[in-house]
Amino acid sequence: MNVREQIQSLREELRQHNYNYYILDNATISDYEFDLKLKELQTLEAANPEFFDANSPTQRVGGTITKNFKTTIHDFRMYSLDNSYSKDDLLDWENRIKKMVDGQVQYTCELKYDGASINLTYKEGKLLRAVTRGDGVQGDDVTANVKTINTIPLQLKGDYPDRFDIRGEIILPLEGFLRMNAEREANNEEPYRNPRNTASGSLKLQDSAEVAKRPLECLLYSIKGNNLNIQTQFEGLEKARAWGFKVPKEAKLVNSIDEVLEFVAYWDTHRHNLPYEIDGVVIKVNDLYQQDELGFTAKAPRWAMAYKFKAEQVSTRLNQITYQVGRTGAITPVANLEPVQLAGTVVKRASLHNADQIEKLDIREQDEVFVEKGGEIIPKIIAVDLSKRPQASEPTRYITHCPVCNTELERIAGEAKHYCPNYTGCPPQVIGRIQHYISRKAMDIEGLGGETVSLLVKEGLVSNYSDLYDLTANEIVPLERMAEKSAENLIKGVEASKQIPFERVLFALGIRYVGETVAKKLAKHFKSIEALKTATVEDLISVDEIGERIAESVVEFFNDENNIQIIERLKSHGIQLEISAEKLASQSEKLKGLSIVVSGVFETVSRNELKKLIEDNGGKVSSSISSKTNYLVAGNKMGPSKREKADKLNIKILTEQDFLTLLK
Ligand code: AMP
Ligand code: ZN
Repeated sequence: MNVREQIQSLREELRQHNYNYYILDNATISDYEFDLKLKELQTLEAANPEFFDANSPTQRVGGTITKNFKTTIHDFRMYSLDNSYSKDDLLDWENRIKKMVDGQVQYTCELKYDGASINLTYKEGKLLRAVTRGDGVQGDDVTANVKTINTIPLQLKGDYPDRFDIRGEIILPLEGFLRMNAEREANNEEPYRNPRNTASGSLKLQDSAEVAKRPLECLLYSIKGNNLNIQTQFEGLEKARAWGFKVPKEAKLVNSIDEVLEFVAYWDTHRHNLPYEIDGVVIKVNDLYQQDELGFTAKAPRWAMAYKFKAEQVSTRLNQITYQVGRTGAITPVANLEPVQLAGTVVKRASLHNADQIEKLDIREQDEVFVEKGGEIIPKIIAVDLSKRPQASEPTRYITHCPVCNTELERIAGEAKHYCPNYTGCPPQVIGRIQHYISRKAMDIEGLGGETVSLLVKEGLVSNYSDLYDLTANEIVPLERMAEKSAENLIKGVEASKQIPFERVLFALGIRYVGETVAKKLAKHFKSIEALKTATVEDLISVDEIGERIAESVVEFFNDENNIQIIERLKSHGIQLEISAEKLASQSEKLKGLSIVVSGVFETVSRNELKKLIEDNGGKVSSSISSKTNYLVAGNKMGPSKREKADKLNIKILTEQDFLTLLK
């Protein structure tokens, strides 16, 4: 055997032992023997660097230092999950599904592992990269750290596809978590709060050798890719297992919501016997073709549902009610609690939402209150323990003036929240608006963070977002924690924001109630800020899905002379205040007013492209057939019941070609 073969055979052998130990939980050699072989391989690799392999078992010990994790766009967006809490929620979900797909629906029930989600990309059987979920569209490349996790195969076995993504949850099993904490306490360090945060924190450690020391695991639950030849979710799980991934065996294929409920009930009581924490179960439509038919909402797949176990509750004392001022001037009362352990975290604060909420529950300082927290949900106060109320207690009097600028608060009829009307002079509003403007989904100004914005405002360098474009390096460098380089980056980032398209600029302006989706709709309809500026409430309401509340808020925004001036300045700096010519060219009104359902598999364009075409041409994509539907665009494999329904309602059915011709 030559050196190369020797190295290869050792790698192969170690890989197999690793698999036996971590995936099958069935070691066939002692740790000592394993270490000897690993050392042997390390020595050989060190002496023969030409045979280096980034996926060799020796790479698991880590040692790479990452200072900045590279932002990476996911090939397939990582969605969130809708939540359900009851049988009725699940039945509602089933009803929605049955309206949209044909035939029998089977479900895969899985546990909802409570950790940090990760997307792993494999190419030719090797781990190519590992990226965190981030905002779903893009995350951080944490490959170096993830490689140290023993349950993640660096080299796959069996009959795997050439390239695919696989998703899972990086978790810290309870035993390992307790062990880490015992060690910390022995060293007089503060213990970690809960396994989930510790797991996700681990992924962002700079030194991968530190990550290697932590007993993290990765549990896989979903495969994504093109032409994978996988027909169902359950089959995907089995295949992943065969390629060497750790896929928990608890997953179960069932035929009805009743069986789903049995699964839920079983794990609600048995979850405490698992070696790791779960916060619910996840139910997925098993058939991938049906999944495709169901598609996604803006946030989550329609074909999956999380069932969250009932929230845990504790009681604690409410020490003080304080008030926060948001960027829109909205006041949020906050309960400052006596710190208490709840569902794995220490809870110190809870939102009280608004004056009505306080009044309804009659919440007072020094009350003993019940706090509830379920999974990701922020803790909330659900009731007061009246039996423990101190005798001298008085009802809470809601503040009448802004806690920051002391302006008298306003409450608009029909609104739950109080607002500070000092739009241009109230610091949290001024700062908040600029922070919103620069945020990732808005103008995405790199090199400028929320803290720096506060600093710039406090130093009097900016008082609204248009001032950002006048900043010079000379002004910035003297600021605290600023250097030449960071000032340069800031200016560069501000400059780059001039390329951000109109719809995002519109979102960035921070008009009350104009979120991302509304901004898109308005941009598409009005096409320029000039047109939007002069729109009346009636004009606005005529736009699909724009209601009175939004319309009034937009009109109010443009009635403010101050805002008009700011927009003029943005314009003079070259910010995109209208839809680009390119975008305009791809749009038309050909399908205006038409509601169109798309179903089946298409040949020349993908289903998503088809939907985009409809929207770009003024049509509306709807997900199920009703009497309001104008066309059904039918691809191959469309189910018979959809066709029947369309026939019954006399809805015109178009082939892919018919549709494309219609657009020409
Ligand atoms: P949420 O963060 O509440 O929207 O829930 C979505 C997250 O649940 C995903 O990003 C995953 O990280 C996590 N998750 C845990 N177990 C599963 C599972 N079996 N299937 C899908 N997602 C899961
Ligand atoms: Zn104020």
